[in-house]
Amino acid sequence: MAGSRYTYVKGFELPDPLLPSTFFVIRIDGKGFHGFSKAHNFDKPNDWNALTLMNEAAKRVVGGRELNGECVMAFGESDEYSFVFKRSCKLHGRRSSKLVTLVVSVFTAAYVALWPHYFPNSPLKFEELPVFDGRVVQYTNEAEVRDYLRWRQVDTHINNMYNTVFWTLVLQGGRTPIEAEQELSGTVSSQKQEILFSQFGINYNNLEPMYRKGSLVIWEEEPPAENAPASTDEPSTASSSASPSPASAQTANSLSIDSTLAPVKMRQRKKPAKPKRRLVVVHEDLISDAWWESGRGKGL
Ligand code: ATP
Ligand code: ATP
Ligand code: MG
Ligand code: MG
Ligand code: MG
Ligand code: MG
Ligand code: MG
Repeated sequence: MAGSRYTYVKGFELPDPLLPSTFFVIRIDGKGFHGFSKAHNFDKPNDWNALTLMNEAAKRVVGGRELNGECVMAFGESDEYSFVFKRSCKLHGRRSSKLVTLVVSVFTAAYVALWPHYFPNSPLKFEELPVFDGRVVQYTNEAEVRDYLRWRQVDTHINNMYNTVFWTLVLQGGRTPIEAEQELSGTVSSQKQEILFSQFGINYNNLEPMYRKGSLVIWEEEPPAENAPASTDEPSTASSSASPSPASAQTANSLSIDSTLAPVKMRQRKKPAKPKRRLVVVHEDLISDAWWESGRGKGL
């Protein structure tokens, strides 16, 4: 790098790497979304389109080339989203400022780009744009990552239960916000459910799973296509012009991996095509162990 009398300022930039071999979670949260949601008339307590927009922006982050597939899953509720990364992630030398700003910026850009699709009649105002802050937290083992996600899902549950009863009392029960707040003060979960059921005939457990459980973006293997051609070990990202012919790839594999085992006649080893991954959004219970034992949470 060309030096100048000014180059010394570079020395003020401090290294900020995350610890090696730790899981980390980047959580983003909308700035002032209480006001933003009012300005755009979000349905209370839950605006379906606003949540779907958050999910689509999160899918863009997780599946986008910027993160190179290294984000394993993401969990969202309200105006926040948590992105969970592999412990082996080496992106940007694990520099925390780079990683957090990248996630916040890709998410925000996607949110703004998708906005007109979900809110065609409520254009964004230049003075009041949707913006997000972000932070990163590291976890040393898988159990802590699971508990992190459980923590966010319990938060979703508590907030949604309160907000659902509050807004039902106001919108259907004719209470003022202050009356609704007083009625709810000191109530536990079962009492809130009872208010909903006895006064309004609403069974809380029948409400939308997205509202009650939040949204989880995960990778899912696409079922292999019928009669899919077998593939060699080429990385899926290699362009066809740069990749070796199947025959030469086979030779390279045999030499590097199987040289001691190779029989005299070269084996025509064929592997089934690498399954393609796609992102799906699910609304499932992460609190019990069953979900984690089902294999859905693998990849951490
Ligand atoms: P801060 O800048 O400190 O995060 P905030 O106003 O964004 O402040 P939060 O605690 O993040 O406050 O809460 C977000 C608020 O945004 C919720 O309380 C709710 O009023 C509103 N909100 C977010 N998403 C939705 C949605 N899908 N439907 C209805 N309201 C929503
Ligand atoms: P990285 O992701 O590492 O930052 P980069 O491709 O963004 O990689 P930079 O060193 O940030 O590389 O340089 C930005 C590059 O973008 C410039 O080298 C130039 O090619 C291009 N660029 C940016 N702004 C302009 C502009 N106004 N006019 C022409 N080219 C531009
Ligand atoms: Mg905040
Ligand atoms: Mg917020
Ligand atoms: Mg929030
Ligand atoms: Mg650049
Ligand atoms: Mg630059």
